[in-house]
Amino acid sequence: MLVRLDTAGQPELQYLPGDHLGVFPANRPELVQELLERVEDPLPADEPVLVEVLEKDSSGRFPGHKSSWVPQSRLPPCTLHQALTFFLDITAPPSPQFLQLLAALAQEPADRERLQQLSQDARLYEDWKWFRCPTLLEVLEEFPSVALPAPLLLTQLPLLQPRYYSISSAPGPCPGQIHLTVAVVTYHSENGQGPLHHGVCSTWLARLQPGDTVPAFIRGAPSFRLPPAADAPCILVGPGTGVAPFRSFWQQRLHELQGGGGPLGTMVLVFGCRSSALDHIYRQEMEEARERGALSQVLTAFSREPDTPKAYVQDVLRTQLAEEVHRVLCQCAGHMYVCGDVTMATEVLQTVQHILVQQAGMTLGQAGDFISELRDKNRYHEDIFGLTFRTQEVAFRIRSQSFSMQERRPPRPAP
Ligand code: FAD
Repeated sequence: MLVRLDTAGQPELQYLPGDHLGVFPANRPELVQELLERVEDPLPADEPVLVEVLEKDSSGRFPGHKSSWVPQSRLPPCTLHQALTFFLDITAPPSPQFLQLLAALAQEPADRERLQQLSQDARLYEDWKWFRCPTLLEVLEEFPSVALPAPLLLTQLPLLQPRYYSISSAPGPCPGQIHLTVAVVTYHSENGQGPLHHGVCSTWLARLQPGDTVPAFIRGAPSFRLPPAADAPCILVGPGTGVAPFRSFWQQRLHELQGGGGPLGTMVLVFGCRSSALDHIYRQEMEEARERGALSQVLTAFSREPDTPKAYVQDVLRTQLAEEVHRVLCQCAGHMYVCGDVTMATEVLQTVQHILVQQAGMTLGQAGDFISELRDKNRYHEDIFGLTFRTQEVAFRIRSQSFSMQERRPPRPAP
């Protein structure tokens, strides 16, 4: 979906094409309500609480007192309802440490034993976590004898993290606005047989009403900007929501063309989606951008088009753009941009490597080194949407990336 945010009068939300917006979401009210019903000693709904921790006093400031209550700054004073809605992560699978705490609160020996096992056996925990992806509420359903005190939630649940979105608008043609292209995440856990899960932020964005407030901040992505030389040719690869930052690129170029700028280098967009029936969100805009010279060519790969072999963006690169990839990267000092999930980005990179072998006569090793150099020179850009389900692959990949990001992140405003 396309989300349009009104940012007029918010000077701190200035950005450039390629930057990200960090969004602080809220948890689903139904989930919060169900969790509140499970709390054994619910605090009065409208009474703000301040969490204090009893700490040993080693300073000697309070003679006669061995310990004192110290306010915990992790949460602002707020009601339990607000804490569970805005500040605490209630959907990510609980950590082994949290399960250990739940074990201590279980009244049934069987629950206690299983929770202890899960918290101590890393392999068992991983398998359980990846199969069930349980929210806190689902864990409590699995272990019904666990008593749930409010202070445990307030002090032990991890904080709800912001989600990042590649900005899908350009500041020139869209002053006072930020657009996002968001896929609404829903899935059934347990290999598709378990309960329906809703992504926190994408679901929250999907349910917003005009006039609602979105706590957000800009995160600069200096390594994913348009080329400094406007006449440098570019290839953009973005399947699905990977198209998000490229909309800001073509909007920016249209704006420049309208202002009499140019000449602009060629810009080929390789987009991907399941079928032509679903290819509607920016189809018209892309066509317009092409007709007006902001894009030179738009190629689309359909992965589930009826009666047609599956095609992915890397297939389009290999079968239709091999010469262009060679021309842009080896002959014209051009740029390549790849945006989307880590698996796709890896496959695109391997495809480009093979194209260089075939077109430029390099060995695989030389082609790999060449792409690394392009990265170092900021000519091969990746905007990776992050985590697939097993994090190891991603951690490895992110370590080997040369992309860097600068963070400008203010504290989260109080609700
Ligand atoms: P969450 O509540 O965070 O749930 C997502 C989690 O659910 C996944 O991490 C996974 O653990 C689990 N999950 C999801 N599907 C399944 C499944 N089938 N089986 C088992 N578990 C599953 N997203 C966009 O839509 N548009 C963008 O432009 C965009 N840009 C991004 C840019 C960057 C730099 C990064 C890091 C991410 C970007 N994302 C973008 C992704 C976005 O930040 C969120 O991760 C996404 O919207 C999901 O967040 P959520 O809160 O809705 O889901």
